[in-house]
Amino acid sequence: HHAKEHDQIFIRYTEAMKKRTQSRVELENDMRKALERDEFFLEYQPQFSLLTGKMVGMEALVRWNHPKRGLLPPNDFIPLAEDSGLIVPLGEWVLKTACEHNRKWQLDGYEPVCVSVNLSMRQFRQYNLADKVDAILREVGLDAKYLELEVTESMTFDIDTALNQLQSLKRLGVHISIDDFGTGYSSLNYLKSLPIDRLKIDRSFVKEVMLDGNDAAIVSTITTMAHHLKLKVTAEGVESEEQLEFLKGQNCHEGQGYLFSKPVPARVLESQFLSRLAG
Ligand code: C2E
Ligand code: MG
Ligand code: MG
Ligand code: MG
Repeated sequence: HHAKEHDQIFIRYTEAMKKRTQSRVELENDMRKALERDEFFLEYQPQFSLLTGKMVGMEALVRWNHPKRGLLPPNDFIPLAEDSGLIVPLGEWVLKTACEHNRKWQLDGYEPVCVSVNLSMRQFRQYNLADKVDAILREVGLDAKYLELEVTESMTFDIDTALNQLQSLKRLGVHISIDDFGTGYSSLNYLKSLPIDRLKIDRSFVKEVMLDGNDAAIVSTITTMAHHLKLKVTAEGVESEEQLEFLKGQNCHEGQGYLFSKPVPARVLESQFLSRLAG
């Protein structure tokens, strides 16, 4: 009867696999329509200077209001969008929408700040990415200095291609940051060769900075290195006053995290975080 039991398990296993594949295919099909149906929207997480406490920027984070499954976080659909290639049109929608919001806030008389947008590997591999970014900036009328593009270490793996791409982007006048810094497998070599402006310390290091001496050492080292390389540095995932004090003690420039604010809808960013220009 062992064989039979094994068959049963096998059948249940393949059924579960089939369901998972079906749900993947379904979600992928839904995603194709979602752009037309306006089901995606952006939230913004404000970023603060740790020196002055002032809001200095915001990161645009995509969400999907799925008609049946409800609100989906990016980790539930970005990997799928990457695999299917849908990340390219979705990424362009994010870029354009974030630039439009930022431009509108400037026209409405708020103090100009930079908006950060996450780039995916597929977008980064496009030979005409810089042209696309340029076209969006022109169409929207946003000055390139108010846009920051976030790339991850894995995108710098092929250093020659990354150098080309980043140089084209930098020529437009946008800023470049390395997201989730410290979690990739790339060598530090790229830090001296690539035209980057900022390191964002991954929140996994910030999380236990008060409990784990190794995390504290890593955060401290990244911050010091950033200073020496004349890069800005942002700590991600700041959740407590203790973490904030530690980061200030390390002269970390900027922070982002639940202590300050979760990501919020555009109108909440506007009413609670953006400041009116004087006069
Ligand atoms: P990320 O770029 O590193 O964004 C920061 C993530 O950390 C966000 O999760 C944010 O909500 C979360 N976070 C911020 N502060 C805290 C905190 O204090 N504690 C904790 N526990 N979490 C915090 P979210 O919005 O779920 O996004 C997850 C990831 O999805 C992003 O990580 C980014 O890699 C990706 N993503 C989001 N939007 C886009 C997009 O438009 N395009 C692409 N390609 N990827 C995106
Ligand atoms: Mg990011
Ligand atoms: Mg990321
Ligand atoms: Mg990150």
